[in-house]
This record gives sequence, C-alpha cells and structure tokens, in this order.
Amino acid sequence: MAKLWVIAEKADTAVELLAWAKELGPAEQLVCLTGNPAAAAAAAVQGADRVLLFSGAARPEAYVPDWLALAQREEPAAILLGADRRAKEIAAALAAGLDAGLVSDCVQLRQGEGEGYYSERYIYGGLALLGETTTRRPLLATIPAGKVTPLPARAAVAVENMSGTRPDPVRLVELRPQPSVSALTEARVIVCVGRGLLKQEDLRLARDLAAAFGGEIGCTRPIAEERRWLPEKCYLGITGQKAAPELYITLGVSGQIQHMSGVRDSKCIVAVEKNDAAPIVEAADYTIIGDLYEVTPQLLAALKDQGGGR
Ligand SMILES: Cc1cc2nc3c(=O)[nH]c(=O)nc-3n(C[C@H](O)[C@H](O)[C@H](O)COP(=O)(O)OP(=O)(O)OC[C@H]3O[C@@H](n4cnc5c(N)ncnc54)[C@H](O)[C@@H]3O)c2cc1C
Repeated sequence: MAKLWVIAEKADTAVELLAWAKELGPAEQLVCLTGNPAAAAAAAVQGADRVLLFSGAARPEAYVPDWLALAQREEPAAILLGADRRAKEIAAALAAGLDAGLVSDCVQLRQGEGEGYYSERYIYGGLALLGETTTRRPLLATIPAGKVTPLPARAAVAVENMSGTRPDPVRLVELRPQPSVSALTEARVIVCVGRGLLKQEDLRLARDLAAAFGGEIGCTRPIAEERRWLPEKCYLGITGQKAAPELYITLGVSGQIQHMSGVRDSKCIVAVEKNDAAPIVEAADYTIIGDLYEVTPQLLAALKDQGGGR
C-alpha cells in the first residue's frame, strides 16, 4: 500500500480531494499538504491521516520545491489537486519535477487494472469522454470541485507545522478578492443569460430571479465578450468559469456544447427558451418553452407568492 497525497489551499477543496483519494482504494496514509490553516483544520477532521501545514511564504507556489523533495522521499502513488488555475500550475510544476504523468480536469478517477489508475476527462470541447489508464507513479490529477460528497467528520488528527525551506522571492503587497468569480463557482443557484436577452437593462430580470433564490447571475460568452454587458469572469463554459450549482436556470441560452461543458455537473438545469429545437432543451432537466420576457415575470410572481425561492 502506498501513500496518497492531496494538495489544497481551500478547505472545501481539501475535503473533496480526500474523498476522491479514499475512493482510490486502500492506502497506507492519506496525507493533506496545504499552506492554509483553515484547509488544514478541515482536512484533519474529514479524511486525512496526516496533515502538513506549510507556512513562511505568501504563495503556495513557493512550497513546490519542498513538496517535490518530500514526494521524492515519500513516493506517494497519487497526488490530487483542485482544478483552479493556481492548482493546475502547481500540478504542472510537480509533474515536471517528478517526471510524472498529469491528468487534468478528471471527472472520474479510480483504481484501474493492475497497478494503474483509470481516469476520465472530456476532450474536443466536451464532445467526447476520454478514458485512460496511467501506470506511471506518481499520478498527478487535477479535479474540478463539486463532484463528490466529503467524508463524514471524525476525531481530528494533529496538524504538523512545517516551514518552507527556501525564502519566497515574491513579496505579497496586496490581496484583492475577485468576488464574482468565487461567488459564481460556489453559488447554490445561478441564473444565466444568453443572447435571447434583447437589451442590457433587461439583465434586471435575471438579477431579480437570481436574488429571489439567493443566487448569482452568469452569462454565455457572447454576452461578456461581444456585447460586454457583464465582465468576462461572469461567463460560463469550456473557456469560461466552471460551476456545479444545485439549480442552473438559463434565460435565452441556446445550450451550445462549449457553454454546457462548463455547467454540465449542475444538479438541475431549468431552461427558458423559445425554440423547442435548441440544444438546451435536450441538455436541461426541465424546459419552459416560451418567451423569456413573458415567462420570467411569471416565475418571479410565483416565487413572490411562495415567499421567495429559498
Ligand atoms: C472555441 C470556442 C469556445 C467557446 N467557449 C464558450 C464558453 O466557454 N462559453 C459560452 O457560453 N460560449 C462559448 N463559445 C460560444 C458558443 O459556441 C456559443 O456561440 C454561445 O454559447 C452561444 O451563446 P448564447 O446561447 O447566448 O446565444 P445563441 O446561441 O444565439 O442563443 C440564444 C438563444 O436564445 C433564444 N431566444 C431568443 N429570444 C428569446 C426569448 N425572447 N425568449 C426565450 N428564448 C429566446 C434563441 O432561440 C436561442 O436559442 C465558444 C465558442 C468557441 C468556438
């Protein structure tokens, strides 16, 4: 039996990755490495056998040399990371340093035949699913959020404090949050607008609907990149944000594959679409065939009658 590692900066990511690691079969030890005390605390009660909390640097990237040296000593069979940009950069640096295989954006990962790990990921803009078995050790994999239920809490293991061995050449001057990106990827409900919307001021309809659910507003790429009605960080899809909300409501979105690739893990998709032949009709769990300018006010009125959508 070998060790399995997860590397995560966020508490949610850490506990999800530990649940993925548990699915990989019996391991000598599930180890969580992080630079964030909150992630360390969460991992310590939700799945990790050992938690290593690194400190002394402003950025997790600064710990890559330490993690490389540790991986060379401990030889984990697999190293799992989240699928945000930062985690992907760290994964690539570790894979290069360890001369290891890296599978990005896994939607499936399990023990395969013999010694290998079997993974699945979407290719060709989400049109096909590629399954592959990697026998090279360690396997590095990045896994998008929201696809697995974290393990139940149990008595905490101790968190071991580690300090980075090399000084970080980067000095952190200021941290600026990007509220709409994290709000979108973590939202329980998203109302997404597409080119079916005629005027920028009509975004109010979507905003009102999102507010009734305590959710966020998102859009398709042309709304952000061509019409520039919303910031680019608000568009969802293969080249945009990925999200897996409990409820994804679309208003005037045709449902092209490049858009749906980013939201296919939504628990329930409800479309408001006037064309019953649009691809969104096939992709959605429920479609209201009709004009969004008639349907949305009716939805808002119905929600108001019921005291909101929450
Ligand atoms: C390489 C590449 C990457 C891409 N990446 C992305 C991506 O990440 N995200 C993304 O979103 N797109 C992406 N695209 C663009 C994508 O292919 C589609 O063009 C885009 O998603 C379509 O946006 P839309 O649904 O808003 O517009 P449309 O396809 O024009 O659809 C508008 C829909 O609104 C309906 N409609 C019109 N009026 C009303 C009304 N009054 N009431 C109800 N329904 C109405 C229409 O019937 C239609 O179905 C990418 C494209 C390429 C080539």
